[in-house]
Amino acid sequence: IQPAMKEACLVIDRLLQAGFSAFFVGGAVRDTMLGRDIHDVDIATSALPQQVMALFEKSIPTGLQHGTVTVIVEGQSYEITTFRIETGYVDYRRPGDVQFVSELNRDLMRRDFTMNAMAIDRDWMLHDPFDGWSHLQSGILVTVGTSSERFQEDALRMLRAIRFAASYQLTIERQCWEAIIHYGHLLNHVAMERVAYELERMLNSDFPARGITLLLESGLLSHTKEKLNLASGHFHQNWLTDKKDDASMKWAALFICLGMSSECALEDMRKLRLSNKLIQTSSGILQLYECVHIYIGSEQSHEGLKERWLDILLQFPLDQTRLFLRLLEQHDERVAMLAAYDEALSIHSMKQLAVRGNDLLKWYSKPSGPWVKQALAFLFKRVASGTLTNDKKAIHSFVTNQIEGGLSNE
Ligand code: ATP
Ligand code: MG
Repeated sequence: IQPAMKEACLVIDRLLQAGFSAFFVGGAVRDTMLGRDIHDVDIATSALPQQVMALFEKSIPTGLQHGTVTVIVEGQSYEITTFRIETGYVDYRRPGDVQFVSELNRDLMRRDFTMNAMAIDRDWMLHDPFDGWSHLQSGILVTVGTSSERFQEDALRMLRAIRFAASYQLTIERQCWEAIIHYGHLLNHVAMERVAYELERMLNSDFPARGITLLLESGLLSHTKEKLNLASGHFHQNWLTDKKDDASMKWAALFICLGMSSECALEDMRKLRLSNKLIQTSSGILQLYECVHIYIGSEQSHEGLKERWLDILLQFPLDQTRLFLRLLEQHDERVAMLAAYDEALSIHSMKQLAVRGNDLLKWYSKPSGPWVKQALAFLFKRVASGTLTNDKKAIHSFVTNQIEGGLSNE
């Protein structure tokens, strides 16, 4: 039992002392059983939301209509949800009506998968009416009840199925898989943001390639509200298994592995409503990838490629060139060569150059024009490759010599 669960006992105890029943539920139970780290502790109780709020000084009614109250105890927040059943699903996505009930088992029944329908009580006893633990141990993902019914109630569960299969390396049980194929079209009722959230969770999981493969195999991805280019991608290289820390890198890797152009990727990322910052960085990495590929295709010598790399450093922001190298150096020999070259450079972006356009304007006493940019680029390459020191004075005297030598337009 992990510390987070032990701390949460304060919450459970308060509910029990007030005469209600209360259990740990959801992901924390599943992950505790597997010996994995847990991130958030969810609690289910027979207490009604108002009763919960009366018991805790700090509480936020985060989802009252669903029975959810967030309470803060000793700086830690917990979601406490009243036992409930759901009926009359509308839009293939949400229940039309929720009804609060007093028994744990009825609450567990509304949950999506057997491994998510387990509860642990204050005495650390497992309540597992649908055999979630045995399914987990046999490595199969099973819905609570008939898969086709459960997916018609809420189409998001199909994406969750594939996400869980990827996170826990599970085989999707046959009737569940068939239901995904049969009812996949209902995914068009799910908001694109939700699709993006599940995709990103898949990319962050231990077996992202498994998730993407299942998505493509099931055809599920071809049914999104807004059509994604991703859906017709072919998984031709697998770089997804590396645990990469940056979200933009993971998205870029996904598109590269599916052989997609940066434009198609950009379109998809917009449809998925990814944040502008994320879109900007990932499409930068993808454009860089295309650029380098063109160079690798046309340039035979290493020296030529290195020269091209300096052009790329001038063209792309520093964070993107760093992420690009980190992503590709382990997969591409020529990029690994570039990474080694890059590491030896003394600066990696124009911003790191010790002089600015204004300095040049002063030194040359010439009106501004395209020559400034060209001159800066020239100086950048000199400094980066180590033939000129990145120091204002040194650059000034170098420039002065150039002017005297009549090379000012270089
Ligand atoms: P994680 O937090 O790692 O994503 P989790 O299982 O805690 O996993 P949540 O989305 O936090 O997932 O949901 C908590 C619990 O609520 C789940 O374990 C499941 O029992 C239930 N649940 C969540 N979404 C659905 C859904 N769409 N249909 C049915 N039950 C759901
Ligand atoms: Mg959770």
